[in-house]
Amino acid sequence: MASITDLEKSKLDELFDTLSLVSEGADVFLCDMKYDYSRWSKSAVDFYEMPGEYMTGAGEIWINRIHPADREKYRENIEDLFSGKIDEHNIQYRAVDKNGIYNVCTCKGHVMIDAEYGPRYFAGVIRNQTAGGYIDRLTGLANQQAFFRDVKQKMDDKESMNIVLLGTSHFTKFNDMYGYDFGNRLLQHAARYIQDMVSDMGELYRLDGIKLALVTNRSIEEIQDFYSRLKDIVEANFRLDGKLIDLPVNGGAVEVDTFEIDVNTIYSCLTHAYEQSKYEAGGSLVVFENGVSEKTREKLSLLTRIRNCVAMGCRGFMLFYQPIVDAKTEKLIGAEALIRWRDKDGQMVPPNDFIPVLENDSQFPVLGEWILREAMRQGKKIIESYPDFVMSINLSYAQIQKIDFVNVVEKAMEDMDYPAKNLCLEITERCRLIDMDRLESVTFQLHQDGIKIAMDDFGTGFSSLYIMQHVECDTVKVDRSFVKDVEIDEREEKLVSVITDLSKIYGAATCVEGIETEGMRDVLRKYPVTSFQGYLYSRPLPFYDFMKKYGA
Ligand code: C2E
Ligand code: MG
Ligand code: MG
Repeated sequence: MASITDLEKSKLDELFDTLSLVSEGADVFLCDMKYDYSRWSKSAVDFYEMPGEYMTGAGEIWINRIHPADREKYRENIEDLFSGKIDEHNIQYRAVDKNGIYNVCTCKGHVMIDAEYGPRYFAGVIRNQTAGGYIDRLTGLANQQAFFRDVKQKMDDKESMNIVLLGTSHFTKFNDMYGYDFGNRLLQHAARYIQDMVSDMGELYRLDGIKLALVTNRSIEEIQDFYSRLKDIVEANFRLDGKLIDLPVNGGAVEVDTFEIDVNTIYSCLTHAYEQSKYEAGGSLVVFENGVSEKTREKLSLLTRIRNCVAMGCRGFMLFYQPIVDAKTEKLIGAEALIRWRDKDGQMVPPNDFIPVLENDSQFPVLGEWILREAMRQGKKIIESYPDFVMSINLSYAQIQKIDFVNVVEKAMEDMDYPAKNLCLEITERCRLIDMDRLESVTFQLHQDGIKIAMDDFGTGFSSLYIMQHVECDTVKVDRSFVKDVEIDEREEKLVSVITDLSKIYGAATCVEGIETEGMRDVLRKYPVTSFQGYLYSRPLPFYDFMKKYGA
């Protein structure tokens, strides 16, 4: 397609400015269909994190912001517009904003016909029905926007607070069994019930889906007490339409008494505590950093610093590389890229101190993409000396969940000119949080591209076998915790034997991590282990040390 001329661009700007004057505060877009070249309101660009005010192919970019369930409707409508079948656009859909929140938008547009070219300009307004309104229509509670606004306000006022996130497992079961309407009424009923319980404790909000948040000035002890009462009642004795409903309650809490931190960071910590409650603590209330104020304060401030660095072009992050060697020859066959973050004072912060929490942050995919590109950039240099070298990169569930994830990987490989056969993506146990259909389809597409897939942390969670069944893995990585005593504990040896057999069933290789001694290596060599990774060979190294060590 030819590029838009300066004259045509100024015509576009002129029309855009006119349109903006009459848009009554709604976001405006205008597309020159001849070039698929658009201008969008700055407010929309900022709010929905679009690449810029001027864009080519804005429709394709925008569709990635639209809720997957609404995309087909949108795509059909746009295709009909561009093919000239219709000239009016009037649809409602949900679009995700920079905070990861879906907003209900009404989008109205019109195609202007050019005598010479035919359908030429597509102009329209997007009205956000959610933003600006602070009430959840279903439950009547204050909504997620209000939550962010109020928490931020309290922080600005330096007001301490405790926040509790409440939710339940298996809610979809009720939607499936009794219908969506029943599910909605159940949510209304539960919300009302909980609101009565907490009416004198603080403010209750409905966040996304079935989660409620309580912002309160009550102590953690009082919250614990409220939480156990809530659990007793809701789990044992909750009825709707005469049906006894079992609603297993999960809860996470965070104490906020430091104020130079970001609201999004608090939200990520809250989500993290909630997930621990749901997946690890059997629904007991989990308080972030065990409710130790000093630790919480330090952690929140560290996470805020790290989050800000992501926003500043991933400043302070670096990748270390740990070699992976062939189990028989002990020759280098690959490396795993492991992220580190360096604080201002030069202190190196390991990934376990920030990845599990920041994975819940809407900013995380930005870091994920930086990791992919940086590992490819440096990996390319190693490949020059080791053509079959495979770079392994860890993925987090937040990355995979993003709808454009496969494109992000493909684009990175294309831009970096990095060969697919030299890339392995590791899926960690936390990816169980992803819908299995999604994980299956993403890994299938990556495989089609020739990228290898490894299952990391095998056996550390509940769903390793389930994932193995659905995801075609090239390699199973055995976590260090299963082999650390393999020299003295026969059961560990047997476990390795079983895991290597299992890998074989699925046609996968086995890599054992955490090899620290020759003794461990020798025991493991009795089994068909394919590769080793561990301090015996090397600790993770900065890139240049890695290059020096391996003469790459
Ligand atoms: P992982 O992917 O299972 O990585 C292996 C971890 O084991 C690394 O810790 C490595 O330094 C450590 N390790 C390797 N050999 C030995 C050994 O012989 N003895 C002992 N004691 N430890 C060994 P690290 O670098 O602290 O990373 C921890 C976890 O953080 C990783 O576990 C991974 O889940 C996550 N992570 C690291 N980098 C990234 C990243 O770029 N993206 C994502 N999403 N997660 C990452
Ligand atoms: Mg890994
Ligand atoms: Mg691992």
